[in-house]
Amino acid sequence: MSANSQPTHKNVVIDLSASPHAKLRSVPVSAVSLEGGYWGDRFRTNAETTIPYEFEMIEEDLFDKFRLAADPAHQPDEPPSPHYRAREANIFRWLEAASFALSHDPDPGLEDLIDRALDIIEPVQDDDGYLHANMAPISLRHLRWSHEDMNELYAAGHLIQGAIAHRRTTGDDRFIKIAVRVADHIHTIFGAGDKEWRPSHPVIEMALVELYRETHDRKYLDLACYFIDHVGTSGMEEIAGHSVVVTFLLCGVIDAYAETGNPAYLETSEKLLRNMVEEKMYVTGALGGRRNGEAMGQPFELPHEHAYAETCAAIGSAMWNWRLLHVDPDARYSDLMELHFYNSVMCGVSLDGKKFFYDNPQSSCGHGYFDPWRVGEMQRGRDYESYRNWIGAPTRQDWFYVDRPEPKHMYRVACCPPNLARTLAELPAYYYSTSEAGVWVHMYNNSTLDWQLEDGTPVAIVQRTEYPWDGRIEIEVKPEQAVEFSVFVRIPGWCRSATATAAGEALAATPGEYLEIRRTWQTGDKIVVDLPMPVELLVANPMATETRDSVTVKRGPIVYCFEAIDNPEIDVREASLVLPEEGLPEFEEEYRDDLLGGVVVLKARGAVPDGEWGELYRTLDTSGSGHREITLTGIPYLAWDNRGANAMTIWLQRLAESALV
Ligand SMILES: [Zn+2]
Repeated sequence: MSANSQPTHKNVVIDLSASPHAKLRSVPVSAVSLEGGYWGDRFRTNAETTIPYEFEMIEEDLFDKFRLAADPAHQPDEPPSPHYRAREANIFRWLEAASFALSHDPDPGLEDLIDRALDIIEPVQDDDGYLHANMAPISLRHLRWSHEDMNELYAAGHLIQGAIAHRRTTGDDRFIKIAVRVADHIHTIFGAGDKEWRPSHPVIEMALVELYRETHDRKYLDLACYFIDHVGTSGMEEIAGHSVVVTFLLCGVIDAYAETGNPAYLETSEKLLRNMVEEKMYVTGALGGRRNGEAMGQPFELPHEHAYAETCAAIGSAMWNWRLLHVDPDARYSDLMELHFYNSVMCGVSLDGKKFFYDNPQSSCGHGYFDPWRVGEMQRGRDYESYRNWIGAPTRQDWFYVDRPEPKHMYRVACCPPNLARTLAELPAYYYSTSEAGVWVHMYNNSTLDWQLEDGTPVAIVQRTEYPWDGRIEIEVKPEQAVEFSVFVRIPGWCRSATATAAGEALAATPGEYLEIRRTWQTGDKIVVDLPMPVELLVANPMATETRDSVTVKRGPIVYCFEAIDNPEIDVREASLVLPEEGLPEFEEEYRDDLLGGVVVLKARGAVPDGEWGELYRTLDTSGSGHREITLTGIPYLAWDNRGANAMTIWLQRLAESALV
């Protein structure tokens, strides 16, 4: 890229404007305003609290490391530990978040923080373009590109993504110049060079495709394809391995497909997504059942309390499905995106925006737990209480440290917080797309799209709704002048019966599909969509052993949980939902403005074992129920753990009403 290149000022997250195999085009973050409601509130908290807070954390965690890396007097004999090596990507992820957070309004304070971060990064770059704080000293130069686990490509990928976000939003070339030099250096090693590598943690693939889109330099796309092909995705039969690694890789695979049309990329992605939803995904959309290796695990390996379910993995799948949606506009992708965002992404951050889950338990005893495999560390002097807090995540943490005193020493890479921050900063772009035929509406919240049709006709779309607590959505279409085009409205797959009207005319709406409404739109024409949200019960494939004979409560897109603080008389983990002889149980629904930022609370008949259980096992007694009746109170899982650490469960056992008699 020449230094004189003009910025696009169209701050899209993925630029599909010239992608030959994309059927939808993304819209800029700046084109969509979220106005209150669930997402508007979260978006504002992210911009006003989380992003400045994370800067402080990252400054404390990483800035000295970068300063040291730029100091010629610092010449260590050995590189730091692998976790140190992964951590520096946080500064780049934060820069991506902070850049997109500037999309709507100028913020001199935030611009200053961005400049301070760039001031720290810039001096670390070597003359040949290499930039990796851990391996910056000349004394370690012989080790550069010596081992895949050094996370050099991982950090570079996030650096490139951050730089693209910065340029697209601010129009400033300072960061992208650094990134282009990094990418050119990597190209000399892997593209023009002969090094055979599989990136240990993907992200470089999607970053390079995006750099190709930004600079139109084909070598970056070729290099992305080189990395994808070396991992050998086409041979993958099931989604496996580290759950963030694999979802990030698949994002890059679809980015590469959008440019190349290589059918193997799409086929592999489709196959792995099907496998994920059939065998490897929690009901919340969380991913990664196996803590060991932070992995997808075997089919149906989905433990609850010991779920790994990293926030980043759900974000990875949301990003992947969003990309799939643009090459194959099918509502099943946006359904999954929505499932992830509400139920397995937002549980990762507290309502105040300053505490985070790395792993996301699907049930909790309310405190940390003891891992006998680590008993040796206890014998070396850790006290039990701090040890309990270290193992397992009883509650969200203010950061994940590598070198802090216990009990904060839990996870060594604070990847999830800046990943959440950038996702929330980019969220407006997930709401809409365009195609030659018109505008696509993927998500619902009070919001305004102020953008244009692909022929350049300005158009605004205004949504008014209480979604996700109520399913009525009013969509006002406001073209600059009367013009014919289609509005594609997502009718979610969780719906059983949906109704829709356009300018008063009734339309047939099919759940799980986009409803195409084509007409000559006059400004002020309204689409009204009604998506009834009766409470539903979900059951799992019995091969998932922990959920046998159990149900999950879901209302619309929202998965519910039962937290001890709302059910103080019982242990929620032994609770059953009482099922009537016929039909579904009755749920009392109440929107509580004063609770957890505003949520719908559910109450239903439940039961718990009567009296002390005693020994673990007892003889089956079919003569009586052995249960006492209680009232169960449920809240959305996305809002759990905002009132202190306490027990929680998503799944309830099923108990027939007749067993209570
Ligand atoms: Zn993470």
